[in-house]
Amino acid sequence: MKLTLLGVYGPFPAPDGGCSSYLIEDGDTRILLDCGSGALSRLRAIDPELPLSLDAIVLSHLHGDHAGEIDLFRYMLEFGMLKSPLKVFSPETEQLRYPVFDAVQSSDGSTAKVGSLSLRFTAVRHAVPTAGVRVADEAGHSLFYTGDTCRFDGLKDAARNADLLLADACLRDEANAKALKNHMTVAQVVSLRKEANCGRAVLTHRFADGIAYPAIGDPDCEYAVEGAVYEI
Ligand SMILES: [Zn+2]
Ligand SMILES: [Zn+2]
Repeated sequence: MKLTLLGVYGPFPAPDGGCSSYLIEDGDTRILLDCGSGALSRLRAIDPELPLSLDAIVLSHLHGDHAGEIDLFRYMLEFGMLKSPLKVFSPETEQLRYPVFDAVQSSDGSTAKVGSLSLRFTAVRHAVPTAGVRVADEAGHSLFYTGDTCRFDGLKDAARNADLLLADACLRDEANAKALKNHMTVAQVVSLRKEANCGRAVLTHRFADGIAYPAIGDPDCEYAVEGAVYEI
């Protein structure tokens, strides 16, 4: 399975950056994980036909930095430019009731199969209903995406043994944590990777206020960079 980082900022983008959006590919199966600002143009920049081959969109939650472009996908669907109906997983589905979407609620513990990929959702702790997701291919490789969440006990069970942990590390440090709630600090994600025995952690949802993040100090953890590709 291949992961491409399309947009890594939140809750607003850096200049020339995008908000949370990640493409997962496995053979002919393609899933878009969140669709913050820039998602559609970046998919089309990779390949203008790529949106047409999407099998599903997984929305971790309906905050604008994760779901802000969902209406743009709806417009493309209405013009026949995507597979329709397109499966859209979300912890809340009321706002997704359009004929072009096959909206599926991603409740805690629910599972789904999309092409060759298996999904398992875990409710995480954020300001609105939010689902983390484990994505596994048929060879047993897996990634866990936390969505937006603060640290809580169940998170390490949900992430356990994932080859790649894609985690909300929006907060640089404890001082930053006082200003912005419902996210994890860099240090919390570094310890989560160890406790959950994940192979590698990619720290995403970067806060784009221009202040540098600290050095991580763990060779198995790195900050998300737009355009980076991971073979999992
Ligand atoms: Zn966010
Ligand atoms: Zn959020």
